[in-house]
Amino acid sequence: MADVEYLKSLLKSHPDFPKKGIVFLDIFPLLRDPVAFETLITHFVHHITSQTITRSSTRKIDVIVGLDARGFLLGPIIALRLGAAFVPVRKKGKLPGECATVTYEKEYGSDSFDIQADAIQPGQNVIVVDDLIATGGSAKAAGELVSKLGGNVLEYLFIIELTFLNATGKLDAPAYSIVKVD
Ligand code: IMP
Repeated sequence: MADVEYLKSLLKSHPDFPKKGIVFLDIFPLLRDPVAFETLITHFVHHITSQTITRSSTRKIDVIVGLDARGFLLGPIIALRLGAAFVPVRKKGKLPGECATVTYEKEYGSDSFDIQADAIQPGQNVIVVDDLIATGGSAKAAGELVSKLGGNVLEYLFIIELTFLNATGKLDAPAYSIVKVD
């Protein structure tokens, strides 16, 4: 719990960024502090390993999917610690080769995410990672991409959840966040 309070104390709020009325929570001060960054990664890895052991010893994590862009800063490190693959979900048009695509609604207009079609094999167990869940649109779209390739999302992980938006209920698997903001 002291660890969580320490991580929380490093998050910085930026009112009116990227536009007026939005309070942006910045995780980068946390990554600047090596003790905090290590604490964060260890917290996620401990959560995953304790969960997979209690659920079923056979539920090995095969793939960590990280979302464009801050999920790319967390996912590869978690994947290496678990001996799992890392797979990026990127904004449309950035990945080479055959891709699966999902379009999702944002506050204003829509956006699309891509995943490389051969990145996940049918039946593989997947965890999706991002820095923050707000409306849940990005995480839900990533889950749909994993499903399109035949993977099973076991859990969604976030540093921060904006709980007042009640987004985790729209996901097809449990969500875990270290810091809850209401
Ligand atoms: P959602 O799709 O509405 O859940 O928004 C989540 C996505 O927007 C994530 O990829 C976040 O990186 C980004 N995001 C939204 N608000 C913030 C914020 O306050 N800080 C950092 N990222 C944010």
